[in-house]
Amino acid sequence: MWDEIEVAVEKCAENEMKRKPDPANLGFGKYFTDHMFRMTWSREKGWHDAKICPYQNFSMDPAALVFHYAQAIFEGMKAFKNEDGQLYFFRPEKNFERMNNSAQRMCMPRFPVDQVIRALKALVYLERDWVPTEYGSALYMRPTMIAAQPALGVQPANLFYFYIILTPVGAYYKEGFNPTKIYVSDEYTRAAKGGVGNVKAAGNYAASIYMSEIAKKEGYSQVLWLDAKEHRYVEEVGTSNIFFKFKNELVTPSLSGSILPGITRDSTLKLADSFGVKAVERAVSIDEVIAGAESGDLEEAFATGTAAVISPIGEFFYKGKSYSVNDNKVGALSERLYTELQEIQHGEREDPFKWVMKLN
Ligand SMILES: *Cc1c(COP(=O)(O)O)cnc(C)c1O
Repeated sequence: MWDEIEVAVEKCAENEMKRKPDPANLGFGKYFTDHMFRMTWSREKGWHDAKICPYQNFSMDPAALVFHYAQAIFEGMKAFKNEDGQLYFFRPEKNFERMNNSAQRMCMPRFPVDQVIRALKALVYLERDWVPTEYGSALYMRPTMIAAQPALGVQPANLFYFYIILTPVGAYYKEGFNPTKIYVSDEYTRAAKGGVGNVKAAGNYAASIYMSEIAKKEGYSQVLWLDAKEHRYVEEVGTSNIFFKFKNELVTPSLSGSILPGITRDSTLKLADSFGVKAVERAVSIDEVIAGAESGDLEEAFATGTAAVISPIGEFFYKGKSYSVNDNKVGALSERLYTELQEIQHGEREDPFKWVMKLN
C-alpha cells in the first residue's frame, strides 16, 4: 500500500549538541533532545522529505490552517533504557494505529506504521544518551501532525507536517506514590458522543484547561469528567482513563465514543485479568462511585495513562462534598499494577503479552 519512505539523516555538529539536563531534575516536557524526525505530506506527492534532522524551529505562514482551525493530532509514548543500555518501546504500534484513527477522523493523511516505527527506532538509537536509566524515568516521545497549508476557510489541508520530538522525563512520583485529589465536574464536559473525544485531537486539550484551572484553584490536581448529555456517567480523569476496584470487580467505563482508548487502559485490563481479577468495561455512574466510597464497597480508584502509568485516587470532590477512597491510601491492586507494568516496560519482568519491543 505504501511506497518505501526514504529517511535521510542530518546529524548535528558536535558543537551544536545541547548539554544534557540533570537526570534528578528532569520534570516533564522541559528539555528536548538534539534531533527530531519530520516528514511532509502533500496531495500531489503523498509522504515525502522524511528525515532525522537537528531539532529545529518551523517557519510557517500565519495563515496555516492549524493556527485557525486546529487540524492537529498527537500521541504520547515512552522509550526506556536499562542499566545495560538496552532500549525498549512499549506497544508503539498501538500509538501509531491510534494516531492513524485520529488522522482519519480529522481528515488528515494516514501514514505507514511500520516505516514510522523504523524511523523512530533510528532516532531514539541516535539519541540513546538522552534516555534516562533511573527507574521510573523515560524518554517521552511526542509524534504530532499539523495542517500547514496557508488558507482561510474551513477545509482539509493539502499540506501536512508530521514530526516526532523527544524529551527525557523524570519519575512521575518523586515524592512517593501518593493518592491524588480529584474534582468531579458536573458543569463543564470534555467530549460528547459524535465529537472527537475518542481521538487525540489537540483541540480537546485546549478546551479542558478552563475546568482544570478551576479545580486547581480549589486544591484538586485533576478533573473527573462526566458524560456530556446527563452529567451522570464517569468518563475520564484529566488526560487519563479511570478504573474503580469494587468488592467483586475492577471496572472501567466502556469506550462509549467520547472516551480516549488508552493503551495503558488496555494493558491494565489485560494485566488485571492475568492476576485473576475480574476486569470489566461497563457504564459507571457517579452515584455508584459516591455510594461505593461511602459504604466502602469502592476499595480503590486510579487513573491510567502513559505519563504516570497508574495514578491512585484518594479523594473525590462532588457537589460541594469530599469523599475519600480507601482512607486516602494506595490500594494493593493499584500498587501491584503499577509495579508490574513498570517492570514489563523496563524489561525487568517476563512479558507474556509481547508488549515490549527491543531497539538494539
Ligand atoms: C492520551 C490520553 C489517555 C491515555 O492514553 P494512554 O495511551 O494510556 O497514554 C487517556 N485519556 C485522554 C483524554 C488522553 O488524551
